[in-house]
Amino acid sequence: MEFYIPDLSEFIIRCIIITLFIIISIKLINMYLNGLFIGTYENECSDKIYSINKSLCTGCGNCEPECLRSAISKDGNTYSIDPTLCISCGICTDVCQESAIEIL
Ligand code: SF4
Ligand code: SF4
Repeated sequence: MEFYIPDLSEFIIRCIIITLFIIISIKLINMYLNGLFIGTYENECSDKIYSINKSLCTGCGNCEPECLRSAISKDGNTYSIDPTLCISCGICTDVCQESAIEIL
């Protein structure tokens, strides 16, 4: 009985494909656990209303890219939350060092 032994280049290509597959799988699992799939969040969100206190907000913009619903936008020198888009996940509060994002 003969065994098929791939040459070195074929072996390397297979290793790369398997590694990429593992990396992509880990990324997808990580995205799911972080709620990047919106449905996950909607199941977990509360009915709290999040709002940015303009007297505390420095306008740093750290919170804007964190919002998966694009509910945070520039509003003059500070930022504000669109309550019609906000799903009350609370992620934005983690990045605000001024504690400007409040729950009403
Ligand atoms: S992270 Fe906080 S201080 Fe910075 S823009 Fe957002 S609400 Fe304002
Ligand atoms: S609570 Fe969630 S959905 Fe609402 S503004 Fe913050 S990050 Fe966006």
